[in-house]
Amino acid sequence: MLKIENLHAEIDGTQILNGLTLEVGAGEVHAIMGPNGAGKSTLAYVLGGRPGYEVTAGSVTFKGQDLLELEPHERAAAGMFLGFQYPVEIPGVSNVQFLREALNSQRKARGEEPLTGGEFLKLAKDKAGLLKLDMDMLKRHVNVGFSGGEKKRAEMVQMGILDPVLAVLDETDSGLDIDALRVVGEGINAIMRAPDKGVLLITHYQRLLDYVKPDYVHVLSKGRIVKTGDADLAKRLEAEGYEAVAA
Ligand code: ADP
Ligand code: MG
Ligand code: MG
Repeated sequence: MLKIENLHAEIDGTQILNGLTLEVGAGEVHAIMGPNGAGKSTLAYVLGGRPGYEVTAGSVTFKGQDLLELEPHERAAAGMFLGFQYPVEIPGVSNVQFLREALNSQRKARGEEPLTGGEFLKLAKDKAGLLKLDMDMLKRHVNVGFSGGEKKRAEMVQMGILDPVLAVLDETDSGLDIDALRVVGEGINAIMRAPDKGVLLITHYQRLLDYVKPDYVHVLSKGRIVKTGDADLAKRLEAEGYEAVAA
């Protein structure tokens, strides 16, 4: 599904990703862990096609297509979802408007009919229920005045509505209390645990992995994968630290 080979990328002339190779197959959840500044968020941004992140070598294919050739909105329409550590606020636009527009523009790009208002609301209610987010929250402006936990749950509602093939989630667990962590973890499972889907879960902590069990755990250090293991690797990292386990 996603094949990253020897990826090198830089920001403002500074090399951040340094020969990263990683393959995510259908039905797999991969966790990426690593110390601050390792390049985890940079990887997410490069996959999303954020301006300013320049790929200088290597390749990324997504469902057999050259991902790096696609514009960010084309990547989304092809089924890639990116969840970010700091979701943006959009004053003046309600979640319902924003999500319906996002979904219908992706459907249009795929040559599918837009959902009607009624169809969309039914879908939104279903996904909000999954994330235990009150529908009233979805009528409010995007993320404005939302708590950290509400932002993350709203983002997972968005993921549920868009129904991506691949989710790249950058520190989705940051700032969540224990109850929200469980709800978000179970939401990720409900939306993304399927034989035809894949997840790249970027996280500092192993606690989210108690809910979303990874098939593979990778340690990213200085812009490349330095160690790969199973879920036990995450537990060892948390107990012993990156230095001890992956140096
Ligand atoms: P992580 O998410 O693993 O903590 P990042 O991908 O955010 O790491 O950052 C990787 C490295 O890139 C860090 O050393 C950081 O200082 C550097 N970096 C991030 N953004 C920029 C930027 N805009 N200009 C220069 N360096 C940057
Ligand atoms: Mg960081
Ligand atoms: Mg980061």
